[in-house]
Amino acid sequence: MSHRNQPTLRTRAATESSTLIRGFALWGTVAAAVPALGWSLFMVAASGAWRLLLPFVVLGIVAELLRVRIARARAETMSFSLSGTVTMAAVTSATPIAPLVALCAAIVHMGVVGTRRPDKLLFNLAVLVLATSAGSLIYTGTAGWVPGMPGTLLAGGLAVCAYVTVNLSLVAAIIALHSGQSFLALIRDARWYVPTNLLLGITGAFLGASYQELGVVGTAIFVLPILVARYTLAFYASRSEETIRMLEAQADRMEQLALYDTLTELPNRSRLHDKLEVALGAREAGDVALLLLDLDRFKEINDTFGHQPGDRLLQHVGPRLRTVLHAEDVVARLGGDEFAVLLAHAGVWEAREVAERAREALARPYPLEGYMIEVSASVGIAVAPDHGLDADVLMRRAEIAMYVAKSGRGVAVYEPAQEEQHSPERLALIGELRQAIEGDALTVHYQPKVDCATGDVFGAEALVRWQHERHGLIPPDRFIPIAEHTGLIRALTRRVLTTAITDAAGWAQNGAPLSVSVNLSMRDLEDSDLPDFVAGLLAERGLDAAVLEVEVTESTIMLDPQQVCAALDRFRAMGIAVAVDDFGTGYSALSYLKDLPVDELKIDRSFVQQMMTDLKTRAIVRSTVALGHALGLVVVAEGVEDEASRAFLASVGCDSAQGFYFSRPLPLAEFVAWVHARRQHGSAASVPPATKAPSAA
Ligand code: C2E
Ligand code: CA
Ligand code: CA
Repeated sequence: MSHRNQPTLRTRAATESSTLIRGFALWGTVAAAVPALGWSLFMVAASGAWRLLLPFVVLGIVAELLRVRIARARAETMSFSLSGTVTMAAVTSATPIAPLVALCAAIVHMGVVGTRRPDKLLFNLAVLVLATSAGSLIYTGTAGWVPGMPGTLLAGGLAVCAYVTVNLSLVAAIIALHSGQSFLALIRDARWYVPTNLLLGITGAFLGASYQELGVVGTAIFVLPILVARYTLAFYASRSEETIRMLEAQADRMEQLALYDTLTELPNRSRLHDKLEVALGAREAGDVALLLLDLDRFKEINDTFGHQPGDRLLQHVGPRLRTVLHAEDVVARLGGDEFAVLLAHAGVWEAREVAERAREALARPYPLEGYMIEVSASVGIAVAPDHGLDADVLMRRAEIAMYVAKSGRGVAVYEPAQEEQHSPERLALIGELRQAIEGDALTVHYQPKVDCATGDVFGAEALVRWQHERHGLIPPDRFIPIAEHTGLIRALTRRVLTTAITDAAGWAQNGAPLSVSVNLSMRDLEDSDLPDFVAGLLAERGLDAAVLEVEVTESTIMLDPQQVCAALDRFRAMGIAVAVDDFGTGYSALSYLKDLPVDELKIDRSFVQQMMTDLKTRAIVRSTVALGHALGLVVVAEGVEDEASRAFLASVGCDSAQGFYFSRPLPLAEFVAWVHARRQHGSAASVPPATKAPSAA
């Protein structure tokens, strides 16, 4: 119908005709061998060459059995036998038996090599019969030209040429017809075959001729060096085969290293990528699903137990995932605690199901160093064709979904809306943040907390900073939300706590004790091991728990008051104070406040900054102070930027204050110097340090 059909038709016609030619060549050769064999049998019977048939057939078979395998690499086998020599010896000794000798040797050879397609087998046998018959004919026709031994050798040499020519051209012709390779190129490729076989054949002709002249003993003299050559060859062949084996094993190992993860022996990222491309290529109409799994608290496990136990845990992941997968599904380790599962025939629903089962399988406790450790996993899913048809795109989208899953859902399927939140820059930032937390790019600055009335400094709030090598100092407002979203906040908080407690212990040792406050996020409060972690740190650094305070924003408390309160109770039970941060912005019902397990209220800086210009705000601040005191809480004002604000706060009885008026958050050394100066010169006498300090916040 359409133009496009025509070439197809023509191709099919061409294919059909070439099949015909191939069939004709193959079966034609086989058919031609039949009369040749018949002629041979007839001549054997007529000439009475029977006596020699059996010994030559035996020799031919022995020669085949002594075939030397010269080399066997993965792709091809090369071997060498003396049966051609025997056949040519037969040509010169008792010409008509030669095709029968060649046939018997070839049958044995085929038997040793193993079964092949019957048509190919028949073809190969037929080629040998025809080649030998051609050799025999030439020998018969030329044997009388020159008398004696030289005549025999000349005729034998011509016979060998005929034998090699027929053999080579028939085989090359059929391969050319089958593979479409050029006939001449094939002949050229077989050039090693021509001289070797010519020589072997001529040796045979010579043996046959010498038998006629010298008898059995004379011939045996020539057989000896041939046998020595054969065994020498066999010896070196086996040595070279060892080398080949070794090289192959080495190549296998290199491949293993390049494509498999050494720790878990699972395919690595690049192997997964290849498999994904193959699956996408073979997809046809069905779906292909990619699951990306990330263990949730793996870094903590590594930090707590060390790398070797951490590695052992990672080795459990593959086998556990296998329990919920089919044999053809692929499990890979992408690096760190990130794994992937490729389902070659699964849509979103199956992928979700597998993800849930995988999470269950991974959630079972792991025996580690005598403890039973529990680890959860987050799974991101992307499915072809819905979420992309390209391996790279699917990998990226599964990763985006994985980060969404990390924010608490456990399993997430890719949605385009997620992409905006996960622009490449943001994804890069996530990776870098992970490294920053593990490395030393995060620092902690301290902002003094002072007594509102006296101006005495009594403590500090620890505020994290990220010194990024390209972006410079990144403010916490830009990366804390990312850390919260990805779960990295837990490691970050532990980092800040470790630094803050270490520094506070240092202040106490230097005779200038100060309290220190650390901010906690929702995910820190869900981290049931955090209180123990803090207790361990305090004990290790020899710091009194009363020196530490944790700050939780009002809005965090309102996310899940019950859970948050339970978590805060644990900190208070240890003697750690709890502050409600950003108070006034979280829309909490006042009735909640009376039951909250807290010690301190921090009035949000938005109120403090408006109170000097707005009467209503001023009233709110005043009554918040009164309310806090009525509930037995310490009240702190944030964001105090001038003396007027401080004076007003002191006048309404606010306990303490924090703000640029006193100091911006400062790096450790500057903070220590600031405290020192303030204590020496007294707060009243000091110039507001904010003007001296570099602007760090
Ligand atoms: P926050 O807990 O309310 O911390 C006080 C923020 O107010 C700090 O900003 C501080 O520099 C700023 N500030 C202090 N005095 C003044 C002032 O007089 N005027 C003005 N305009 N601002 C003042 P920073 O350090 O950029 O931190 C921003 C927020 O990032 C913090 O708000 C806190 O919610 C979060 N954050 C900082 N460090 C951590 C941390 O280690 N963990 C967690 N979870 N959150 C942190
Ligand atoms: Ca705070
Ligand atoms: Ca605050």
